Amino acid sequence: MGAFRLGDELDDYCTRCHLLTNHSVVAIVEDAVKKVRCRTCNHEHDYRQGQGGQKKTKKASAYEQVLASVLAGKEKEAPVPAAPVRRRTRPASLTPRRPMRPR
Ligand SMILES: [Zn+2]
Repeated sequence: MGAFRLGDELDDYCTRCHLLTNHSVVAIVEDAVKKVRCRTCNHEHDYRQGQGGQKKTKKASAYEQVLASVLAGKEKEAPVPAAPVRRRTRPASLTPRRPMRPR
């Protein structure tokens, strides 16, 4: 094994083209091709050894992965609390500045 190097060209099934197209190796893990990029549409996906019959991933999974990685790069997705904070005291703007004088 270990026949491939980064940037090498190989044939694989592109999930976007739905074709067997030329791909570039973009990721190798333990001498095995992990990820490839389609040279036709630049779609990056896991190397599937030319087999496109099995649908393990969703349509937008690659895009979601990129999106998730971008979000993870900034900060972890923290849910913003939507519940308003309870006011314990009245804000000063609600109190009348001038006391009302009896006529
Ligand atoms: Zn493609």
